[in-house]
Amino acid sequence: MTKLNKKTIALVAHDHMKAELVDWSRAHIEQLKQFNLVATGTTGGLISESLNLTVHRFKSGPLGGDQQIGALIAERKLDCLIFFWDPLNPAPHDPDVKALLRLCSVWNLPVACNRCTADLIISSPLFDSDEYLRNVPDY
Ligand code: PGA
Repeated sequence: MTKLNKKTIALVAHDHMKAELVDWSRAHIEQLKQFNLVATGTTGGLISESLNLTVHRFKSGPLGGDQQIGALIAERKLDCLIFFWDPLNPAPHDPDVKALLRLCSVWNLPVACNRCTADLIISSPLFDSDEYLRNVPDY
């Protein structure tokens, strides 16, 4: 059954983490097919090519893609962020990374920064259920 209001998930991985995100996406491909998928440019290209999934691609992260995803969060157009950022290497757009994670907290958005958390979010029966209503703060 196709749901009318599909949730939107954003997928972002730094360069050393991209293989892991592709692998994670492959492991959860049936779940991911049920959602709208958006991603930063390179990550989205890899996932759509390797897994034949439809992914809306924003700009590459260092060129503004993280901020475009942040804008979706602020506009309440995103339901979850899977963000495999690299804890061992500095990124040229570290301020954007921090800003993106900050917005997840500002808007109480579920965010997975590692595979374990991503597994738990995507497999939670509450994630796509009408029983759980995420509290979006009213500022
Ligand atoms: P990319 O961006 O998917 O275009 O590599 C990810 C990032 O570095 O934020």
